[in-house]
Amino acid sequence: MSSYPQDTIVAIATPPGSGAVGIVRLSGPQAIPLADQHVRLKRSLTDTKSNRVRFGRLLLSGEADEVLVFVSRRPNSYTGEDTAEIQCHGSPALLSRLTKALERAGARAAEPGEFTRRAFLNGRVDLTQAEAVVDLVSASTDVSLDAAYFQLRGGLKTRFVALNEELRQTRTLLEASLDFAEDAQIDTERVTERLHTTRQILRGLLTSYEDGKLIRSGARVALVGRPNVGKSSLMNALLGQDRAIVTEIAGTTRDSIEESIEIGGIQVVLTDTAGLRETGDPVEQEGTRRTKLVARDADLILFVVDGSEVASDDALEPLDTSRLRVVNKSDLGVHESWSSVEGFKTSARTGAGLDQLRAAISKKLTAESQPDIESITNERHAVCLERATDALGRAIGLVREGSPGEVISFEVEEAMRALGEIVGDTTPQEILNAIFSQFCIGK
Ligand code: GDP
Repeated sequence: MSSYPQDTIVAIATPPGSGAVGIVRLSGPQAIPLADQHVRLKRSLTDTKSNRVRFGRLLLSGEADEVLVFVSRRPNSYTGEDTAEIQCHGSPALLSRLTKALERAGARAAEPGEFTRRAFLNGRVDLTQAEAVVDLVSASTDVSLDAAYFQLRGGLKTRFVALNEELRQTRTLLEASLDFAEDAQIDTERVTERLHTTRQILRGLLTSYEDGKLIRSGARVALVGRPNVGKSSLMNALLGQDRAIVTEIAGTTRDSIEESIEIGGIQVVLTDTAGLRETGDPVEQEGTRRTKLVARDADLILFVVDGSEVASDDALEPLDTSRLRVVNKSDLGVHESWSSVEGFKTSARTGAGLDQLRAAISKKLTAESQPDIESITNERHAVCLERATDALGRAIGLVREGSPGEVISFEVEEAMRALGEIVGDTTPQEILNAIFSQFCIGK
């Protein structure tokens, strides 16, 4: 871990553009005196206790802007350093004027994620908690938000620290067996058992990563069917907006259109495909080809049919588990030929049946993998877990072969290093750089 940073950083902490309020954040040894120089207050900020808000007037605005200054002192602030946040009107020009003035007065413009990076360097959070901040800010569904909270509270950190402690004890056993060769047999059994147990836990976590796909990247749902059955209209109705082009001329959706919506807490990418039909038009043929590709990648296919018309034989075929049949245009009356097949009756026009369809989509998507907020959602964590699991697999093999303790120890240490990388104890600098560069400036 690198040394404690000595300079003071500044950044606008609110999103770009105009807003009701804007916040300029400072962190470092000069944070409080710098804020103090730019705001007229009844009493100097330097005597303000930690976690207090003071009212003042911004000098740069000819004292026209009334501001609030929040002071938080080391070591219990977000970054672990002295921090000050100046809350003023959310004007981009004002925020930029204030930031520049603070830079002229000695602060340095913060890099993306530098506030959180300092929190990490100062031991306020481990790396999984720092990463949870990015997940939290970008969470778009309830489930992904709760998964980020679990990680932010240290749910993952605690788990990995405990696993590393287990491995440390196993290593101690190995070292003891080196010193007392006559006890090696007993230790070997215990070591094997311990290695197995830890490896099982790691494998369970890796499985949760597979299952966590829904939280991480959501699901892909494709609307497929003949032209003019109402796929585009259904897409718009599900989205609640006019995104796809709806026309009465068959074959107007020649390319695929994608939109993201939340269904039952899951982020769903909904794709409206070109209608599937035999055609001589090369553009439409290309559309049909793409439809097949989209359908292949989809987690779920909504097979849409026009319920107001007589069912064709191919539309009546039984569907495999990755498909749901949607009998649309129910407002026109459903033709009796559909009565023998299972399907969700909807009307994109009136909205009838859409709630049932949403419920069915979410049930289908979660049937295979329940989104669990405690699952591993981060690819970096999964890669490290895999490394640790492989190392322990090798260690178990070495014990079985009767290899010397230090050779086995080497693999146990490799597993410990991999787990240490997850929490940030042994993470190489370039990986840290890559992680923090995903943050926004001011976070
Ligand atoms: P797509 O080619 O399958 O995407 O079909 P569109 O969404 O473009 O719809 C084709 C035509 O059917 C349009 O005129 C729509 O207004 C109409 N339509 C779509 N859904 C419904 C529905 O539920 N009820 C009725 N009455 N008309 C619909």
